[in-house]
Amino acid sequence: MPALSERQSAIPEAATMAAAARARALAAQGRDIISLTLGEPDFASPPHAIEAAHQAALRGETKYPPVAGTPALKQAIRRKFLRDSGLDFPVENILVGHGARQIIYDALTAALDAGDEVIIPAPTWNAYPLIARMAGATPIFLDCRQQDGFLPDPDAIGRAITPRTKWLVLNYPNNPTGAVCPAAHLQAIATVLRRAPHVWVMADDMYEHLIHDGAPNATLAAVAPDLAPQVLTLSGVSKTYAMTGWRVGFAGGPAGLIAAMAKIQGQSTGGVSPITQAAAAAALDGPQDQVRLMQATYAARSARAAASLAAIPGVTCHRPQGAFYLYPCVAGLIGRTTPAGLYIDSDATLCTALLEEAGVAAVHGAAFGKSPYIRISTAASDAALDAACARMAAFVDALA
Ligand code: PLP
Repeated sequence: MPALSERQSAIPEAATMAAAARARALAAQGRDIISLTLGEPDFASPPHAIEAAHQAALRGETKYPPVAGTPALKQAIRRKFLRDSGLDFPVENILVGHGARQIIYDALTAALDAGDEVIIPAPTWNAYPLIARMAGATPIFLDCRQQDGFLPDPDAIGRAITPRTKWLVLNYPNNPTGAVCPAAHLQAIATVLRRAPHVWVMADDMYEHLIHDGAPNATLAAVAPDLAPQVLTLSGVSKTYAMTGWRVGFAGGPAGLIAAMAKIQGQSTGGVSPITQAAAAAALDGPQDQVRLMQATYAARSARAAASLAAIPGVTCHRPQGAFYLYPCVAGLIGRTTPAGLYIDSDATLCTALLEEAGVAAVHGAAFGKSPYIRISTAASDAALDAACARMAAFVDALA
């Protein structure tokens, strides 16, 4: 086989996808598996979004779209940023991408050169460090402690910044911990960033509407408007509107950064399908009651499952304030042995044992940069979550 690039060899298989695939493979063999691996809403996309896509296709919106997004969707995004965050981005400061993932790829690669550094508070969603590595940059992980609500210490951010730092990533509500960052904490981070005008900041607000108490999300560009020349604020329709398969994400930020991101997108994927963009605009502009229903549902599930997990000896469970994940600490299970004779030496081994011996699929914390933890997605029915917690309790009970 002809040689492949060094760049791709740095990318391991994404742990979340791998865990989901293992669970699917066992289920296909007839095993009874409850998979809590994926961050995929278990709701249907809004009917008015589906209808808007249909109408757009019938109107003939089937041609190449503008790379940066259709004027109609960019106007809807402008209204959304103003309504939700008080941020007023002119349309030329807005980019539409194939999911927030592409926005993140565009942004990181638009600014990173080999040898640059990206500061990433951990635990973290694993895409940021992988994309940083693909660009030849080095992820600098900042450990966030459970007792600090999994929030980064602003002074530690300050100490981590070097002349090679190009990006700081902030993702709240957080995947995988569900941590929400209060405005006062963002203010403290802003104070540090004012001394580092060479650092771009990515505010990944994907879960902004999934805050359990229904409070509005605080975001850096709104809390510290003077930092606007450094900040990219991104979100999308995947989580808020249960539209993961439509592939629409978007960002607002400095015009120069947005233009560089659009150049990268133009040579990789081009613009997002106009049919999909019409659906996203309808979701953003349409009734928001389904969003409130989903937010309340995730909040109730999360509280219930967190309480069940916390009752398992050897497990402690931080109460997430947003998103749809639980990130229980499993330190008390390390060093034990399963009935099948597997010695649990890490959260990865624990996840293997949970899948093989209890039929519960979760993702090991090492994949998110902090062990010994596991991530459990609460984007699943009450019945599935209850059954998974009961299986885990029985599994732990049987450990030697
Ligand atoms: N940002 C975070 C924090 C996520 O957890 C995810 C998906 O899991 C994304 C971005 C990507 O979302 P999209 O489906 O829009 O690509």
